[in-house]
Amino acid sequence: MTTFTRPTKSNARKLAAASAERMAAERAKVIAAVKANTCPVCGRPLRRNSSIAGWWQCSQFGAVGFRADSNAPACDWQGVH
Ligand SMILES: [Zn+2]
Repeated sequence: MTTFTRPTKSNARKLAAASAERMAAERAKVIAAVKANTCPVCGRPLRRNSSIAGWWQCSQFGAVGFRADSNAPACDWQGVH
């Protein structure tokens, strides 16, 4: 059995503000990473995902053969900017 607690209005506002802040921080991180052309996770260069405008990902994203360096470990960082 689960009990469901309805969030109060002020709680909901707080949650929304927190998530907007997180999104803004996340966006700032993506912008900084793109500007520096450096993955914030592994430090490798980024590459633009050509299928979706504004979508960036680590050059080490994906399977062997798709990564910039197949001998280096994969990195799943990606961001939209
Ligand atoms: Zn990376």
